Amino acid sequence: MALPPPGDASGVSAPNSMNYLSTRNKDLRITAAQAIVKGLAPDGGLLTPAVVPRLPASALDTLKDMSYQQRMVYVMNGFLEGFSSSELSSYADAAYGGVKFSDPDIAPVRDMGDGSWCLELWHGPTCAFKDMALQILPYLLVASLGKSDEKRDVCILVATSGDTGKAALEGFRDVDKTKVLVFYPKDGVSDIQELQMLTQEGGNVAVCAVKGNFDDAQTGVKKLFADEALAADLTEKGYFLSSANSINWGRILAQIVYYISAYCDLLRNGAISRGEEINFCVPTGNFGNILAAYYAKTMGVPVHRLICASNSNNVLTDFLKTGVYDRNRTFYNTISPSMDILISSNLERMIFEISNRDDRKVREYMNQLSEIGSYRVSSALRARMQNLFAAGWCDEDQTRAKIAEMWEQKHYLIDPHTAVAFHVLDEYRAETGDRAPTVVVSTASPFKFCNSVLDSLGIHEHRKGLDVLDQIAEETGVPVPAPLARLRGRRPRFGAVAEKGEMEQVVRDFLK
Ligand SMILES: *Cc1c(COP(=O)(O)O)cnc(C)c1O
Repeated sequence: MALPPPGDASGVSAPNSMNYLSTRNKDLRITAAQAIVKGLAPDGGLLTPAVVPRLPASALDTLKDMSYQQRMVYVMNGFLEGFSSSELSSYADAAYGGVKFSDPDIAPVRDMGDGSWCLELWHGPTCAFKDMALQILPYLLVASLGKSDEKRDVCILVATSGDTGKAALEGFRDVDKTKVLVFYPKDGVSDIQELQMLTQEGGNVAVCAVKGNFDDAQTGVKKLFADEALAADLTEKGYFLSSANSINWGRILAQIVYYISAYCDLLRNGAISRGEEINFCVPTGNFGNILAAYYAKTMGVPVHRLICASNSNNVLTDFLKTGVYDRNRTFYNTISPSMDILISSNLERMIFEISNRDDRKVREYMNQLSEIGSYRVSSALRARMQNLFAAGWCDEDQTRAKIAEMWEQKHYLIDPHTAVAFHVLDEYRAETGDRAPTVVVSTASPFKFCNSVLDSLGIHEHRKGLDVLDQIAEETGVPVPAPLARLRGRRPRFGAVAEKGEMEQVVRDFLK
């Protein structure tokens, strides 16, 4: 893939101000381009804009008549000094304007008829919401390499709970100056997810299974990022490591766009009136997706509550209800595997913001998390959190029941992650009586989780391999998404399985 050259001819690029900081040290300042290149701050904190731009009063009215790509350029402009509008526009058009998204609206909003709307984020090339950011991130990253005078090539290391890996592979495949290496938990992803990754095309990619769960893979990758000896050796070979996980600000930024876009769509359709507050209900794992909703609110989108929906790994539910984050608990492999996470990295940014950017507090909590696996926030902080966030969780039977109910009552087929969110919304409404219009975020196509979806519909004899895709299509009349239908006949290219302790060697071998 040839990416447009960094910078642009119009010469309007703003100076590269040092306007990103670390959540663990506000004095650590770097440029937007450096933040995207690095992914993580050297002190282990998360790189975050020094100032979150506010939308002018008329902005939502202006944005509502724009295309998704135009909305993206508008939003990104406020965060990316050193990137011109025409440059951002060329990236947005390349990422979303072609044939890669099967819906011309990119992130369409469907009316569920009961005061809730479903924001479908899975029309991209890998059928999960990770495409929303990972289709544009390569453009931002390659441009950022140029803007920050980085001469080395970047190797993106990914720890995935299933969807990020494929989306990163697809986004970065054959992109100049980049390589991608994905680690996934051997028994923690669905068959389709695994096949999607193992059959990935491209000359700059590799995939490796890790024995363990997602947190093991993510902890392993974090260790590699912190390994100075490894970094020095890779520099000699002309590489450095970076991240496409949602710790990278470029990911969060791209995700803010669809929250603003959803609000604009409801405005345009007349579903809500100007200034009316809505809720977002988000199925959450790493807290990345819902964090983007938080920033959309901070920018000025009228949001009443952000509803954080978890599966049986309900560490976030407990945290938002009690103020105690405790990862010392049983880890469950669920039918919504992309949310099987006990260490939600992006929570750090939320705590930073809610504590009025108290970097000392963030350091203290994060030290406790790494030393004893838990921390308790102050009661003032808890109160502020609870004012903004509601939380709930959904067990496996409830998840399956919700898939069945949505199909029977609305003829709408949803995946298990989306089902978790719809279930939690029901409970939230019953508990609070809140009837504010609510956008439920749908994060994956049901065809990525065929066996769980069929089981939920009461169909327990499943066809083998990819034939199960057609089985769902025949049972429901919903067509198989083209990117998944195309998996047929592809041979797996990768098959390596590593112990946790072998991940470093896998990286060294890949970058030899
Ligand atoms: C990644 C993912 C999630 C969780 O998103 P976070 O940003 O980690 O909160 C939910 N659903 C699906 C299908 C995903 O792929």
